[in-house]
Amino acid sequence: MQLIDNFGRTINYVRLSVTDRCDLRCVYCMAEEMTFLPRAEVLSIEELATLGETFVALGVTKLRITGGEPLIRRGIVDLLARLGQLPGLAELCLTTNGTHLPQYAQAIKDAGVDRINISLDSLNPERFRQLTRVGDIKQVLAGIKASQAAGFKRIKLNCVALKHYNADEVPALVQFALDEGLDISFIEEMPLGRIDEHGRAAEFVSSDELRTRISQHHSLQPVAAKQDNAGPARYWQASGYDSQIGFISPHSNNFCSSCNRVRVTATGKLLLCLGQENSVDLRAALRESENPHSEVRTRIINAMQHKPEKHTFDLDDEPQIVRFMNMTGG
Ligand code: SAM
Ligand code: SF4
Repeated sequence: MQLIDNFGRTINYVRLSVTDRCDLRCVYCMAEEMTFLPRAEVLSIEELATLGETFVALGVTKLRITGGEPLIRRGIVDLLARLGQLPGLAELCLTTNGTHLPQYAQAIKDAGVDRINISLDSLNPERFRQLTRVGDIKQVLAGIKASQAAGFKRIKLNCVALKHYNADEVPALVQFALDEGLDISFIEEMPLGRIDEHGRAAEFVSSDELRTRISQHHSLQPVAAKQDNAGPARYWQASGYDSQIGFISPHSNNFCSSCNRVRVTATGKLLLCLGQENSVDLRAALRESENPHSEVRTRIINAMQHKPEKHTFDLDDEPQIVRFMNMTGG
């Protein structure tokens, strides 16, 4: 069984959001004052597991657990352990802000998580605080160490690059990744939700510009894209190092033709594109149908006909999508 959309793309990767809540308040992701969902609206651990199982039965080989901050969700390790055992699942991944990794890194490794991405936008404590509004960089650095000690092989840092906040720090972040044996990806900010701190257009810095800045310190070679690993990032390597340096460029390099993924929000909305509103309600199938398993399966299969060809992000300051990234499942 394979999920194939109207544009011939095979969908084998699902990003599952387990909560909209977070212990940080990153300026590009959330407004300062956020109203989070009532708990009854958020999928239970059992419902999340059912969705994961159904997707894998439909040919999905990669699941990424995200949020909000997945490690503050009660029951997260049980969910990971359940998903980690699914035959047919090649990769179970987690995206986290890292603050709870000192406590959880070993448990999630033991639960079967193959890869983790840790978000880190600055190494400077004040700047980190400014970008996350409340964060303490020491916790994230300790989280990275704990993940290395737990034996995760390829740990990747994710960094949203903003012109006036952290673009000047990109070479230092790369050096940190190289020295620690980590991969790192730089992401152009996407217009999801209305934020007040900054104009998104004014903060735009292209992946090409970042690569030029890094090239002043390292000689970069492109890494050939893997056939079986279609994705939005383009990777490079610095001579003499094993780490991969990725660039996710929704504005400067549209990647939709190779899109292999869909997302599920914490409320069970199947989002067919990060940058469009097309969605299907899987929570209703789980909660209201007499035969939830088969209804979820049918809705997922039918949804493939509605996957849009591409996102239409532009550099306007008006949000094109009203939901925030923490709602979307970044
Ligand atoms: N809390 C976890 C974390 O920060 O890694 C997981 C969820 S977070 C929404 C997932 C990723 O989305 C993070 O790497 C974050 O930097 C990125 N992100 C959030 N808002 C974004 C935006 N408007 N544009 C681009 N990336 C964004
Ligand atoms: Fe939380 Fe992640 Fe959003 Fe930052 S990017 S506010 S850590 S969900």
